[in-house]
Amino acid sequence: MRSSARVVIIGGGVHGASTLYHLVKEGWTDVMLIEKAELTSGSTWHAAGQITRSVADYTTAAFHHYAIELYEGLEAETGQGISLHQPGGLRLAFNDLELDQLKTHLGVGRVLGYPIELISGFEAQEINPFFDMTGVVGAIWTAGEGHVDPSGVTMAFANFARSAGAEVVRRNRVVEVNALPAGSESGNWQVVTEQGTVTSEHVVDAAGCYGHHGHPGGRARVHGRQRSGDTDARHGLAPPEHPVRRSGHLHRHHLGTELPRDHGPACTRFAAAAH
Ligand SMILES: Cc1cc2nc3c(=O)[nH]c(=O)nc-3n(C[C@H](O)[C@H](O)[C@H](O)COP(=O)(O)OP(=O)(O)OC[C@H]3O[C@@H](n4cnc5c(N)ncnc54)[C@H](O)[C@@H]3O)c2cc1C
Repeated sequence: MRSSARVVIIGGGVHGASTLYHLVKEGWTDVMLIEKAELTSGSTWHAAGQITRSVADYTTAAFHHYAIELYEGLEAETGQGISLHQPGGLRLAFNDLELDQLKTHLGVGRVLGYPIELISGFEAQEINPFFDMTGVVGAIWTAGEGHVDPSGVTMAFANFARSAGAEVVRRNRVVEVNALPAGSESGNWQVVTEQGTVTSEHVVDAAGCYGHHGHPGGRARVHGRQRSGDTDARHGLAPPEHPVRRSGHLHRHHLGTELPRDHGPACTRFAAAAH
């Protein structure tokens, strides 16, 4: 294991591996990823791998659109099978409210320029004769949606990065991350792992949903200097509490009505209870 790197990424799920791949594509090859177990052994291993781009939020849709285009070329680029299947996607509206919601998907899709159509229930029935379309007042048809193997995608990212000079270290838990004193020549961060210490300019925390646990066996403890916006920006670290941008449609519409996204009274009750 190298003792210094420009970037250290903690966590070998799809996000860590994707970050590694994209850094390498930008020409940053002095980068490493450290995973405490095996690649994909976190949430990524469990994911169904469904890929969609039809959402009401522009930013999310842009991410999804980019990902699908990336997956379409990833197997050829890396030689790693990712089991991409693109049978398309249908979203059904059972009332005018849901139809309005789907029209926002249509608008976002048209702005971003991917294939998306508002069709009738009859047309949806022709596309998928196995659905019972009773009560459907309209649908969004999105060609190119489908599913992919999340483990294959992670391996493809990691293999590509490795072949370009990046290092992937498995079975090595990060136990601590310390900020080095300003002006230190050895680097800005000290990443302490079970197999030794690495210094780096940047640390990316991609340790997943259990990463926030501060006890040994959970997330590495990140010991910083002052956490001002300036130092966060310089070191590529996000402040711990960022406002999250949400599309808001679930919150706007769910009380007393059916959820626009997930049809049915069970979903309405769940949303009302969660509110
Ligand atoms: C049942 C299920 C179905 C899903 N279906 C879909 C779907 O259809 N479509 C979709 O887009 N998403 C789906 N998801 C969500 C998707 O799986 C996650 O959003 C994604 O896998 C998260 O990736 P990650 O890299 O952030 O986290 P993870 O995959 O959890 O990776 C984090 C990694 O960090 C490692 N780690 C943690 N702490 C340390 C440490 N101290 N040192 C070193 N390594 C450490 C862990 O071992 C782990 O490998 C699903 C999730 C589940 C559970």
